[in-house]
Amino acid sequence: MLNIGCHLSASNGYSEMAKQAIEIHANTFQFFTRNPRGFKAKDIDEKDITEFLQIVQENNFVKVLAHAPYTLNPCSTDKRIRDLAKEIFIDDLKRMEYIPNNMYNFHPGSHVGQGIQKGIEIISNTLNDVITKEQTTTILLETMSGKGSEIGSKFEELKQIIDKVKLKDKVGVCLDTCHIYDSGYDIVNNLDSVIEQFDNIIGLDKLKAIHLNDSKNPFSSHKDRHEQIGAGYLGIKTIEKIINHSKLKHLPFFLETPNEINGYTKEIELLKNIYKD
Ligand code: FE
Ligand code: FE
Ligand code: ZN
Repeated sequence: MLNIGCHLSASNGYSEMAKQAIEIHANTFQFFTRNPRGFKAKDIDEKDITEFLQIVQENNFVKVLAHAPYTLNPCSTDKRIRDLAKEIFIDDLKRMEYIPNNMYNFHPGSHVGQGIQKGIEIISNTLNDVITKEQTTTILLETMSGKGSEIGSKFEELKQIIDKVKLKDKVGVCLDTCHIYDSGYDIVNNLDSVIEQFDNIIGLDKLKAIHLNDSKNPFSSHKDRHEQIGAGYLGIKTIEKIINHSKLKHLPFFLETPNEINGYTKEIELLKNIYKD
């Protein structure tokens, strides 16, 4: 069975997102933990949580994916911004425990001139400061497109971060198909070899989720502009190969394509049609 979901608005709470996912025949979804601009999070509503937990259990959902604000930069040169990132991680992870055993994705950050090595060190230190033995949430580092001074556009960089994390079983990777194509991994022509590289460098056991997006820009453009499924440079043939790849097909796929709910509904239907059970 294809495990699929899309990015949903968290404004009406967890149970509302779960209901919306069911309506569009998804069995998971992604959401922002808080407003990416103002960093404000909604108060936890216990009734909403109870209802959510019941819905996902009754409908056999797979793990849902929370996304940290993308405006957060854990490896900024400004201490206040680094501290804010840490504070938000701690608060988000605490909130995630209301919906235990799910996943929390973040962008490793931009080193803004400090250099990749320094950035990697700060990110791994931050993770070591916020991860607890007790947490049931898996934190995912997202593969990035490499725009500006972004860290995480190379598998080696993510591997180095994970290597420095003490509680390694609490971290994994979310692979974004638009980002890795933009960063120079040719999944259109060499999907097998890219997956092999991921396995050799990071290990496929660390791959926990896929952001399934087409790309508005050609190979290695370092741009990070998502496109609707089949309408970009990846194309439907590549998307079909990705969701059916023997090393990937069991993973949850999350759409972050430029769509309203109707567009997501159509993409999910299309993907289910081309998925081979
Ligand atoms: Fe992201
Ligand atoms: Fe993404
Ligand atoms: Zn992106």
